[in-house]
Amino acid sequence: MDIKQIDHIGIAVKNIEESLEIYKLLGLECTGIETVDDQKVKVAFLPCGESELELLEPTSEDSAVSKFIEKKGEGMHHIAVRVDNIEKALAELKDKGIRLIDETPRYGAGGAKIAFVHPKETKVLIELTQRD
Ligand code: ZN
Repeated sequence: MDIKQIDHIGIAVKNIEESLEIYKLLGLECTGIETVDDQKVKVAFLPCGESELELLEPTSEDSAVSKFIEKKGEGMHHIAVRVDNIEKALAELKDKGIRLIDETPRYGAGGAKIAFVHPKETKVLIELTQRD
């Protein structure tokens, strides 16, 4: 599997607007906010060189991000790595016996194709991202 770069780092927050004020003090500007209904989250994008930070605010109590915050508190939720061919990457990982949350890609924020690897072995949730 050919990983190109860290695409983004996802940070779970209770309130995007409040968090944006803090990140603004760090010099990171928000370039857009989008709601991803599929994942029940509102996402804010903060470009940071070649990659970006994504603040994730749950829009529903049954959102996976809600459950994450309940269990672990606000903070780093996942690391996304960019690949050229997500279907190929998933097939390779499956062959190697790596547990996956998504065996087929779905669409995430910004229209990217995404899939999550199970955090059991990697200790942190890893997202594969393909941007066309
Ligand atoms: Zn992400």
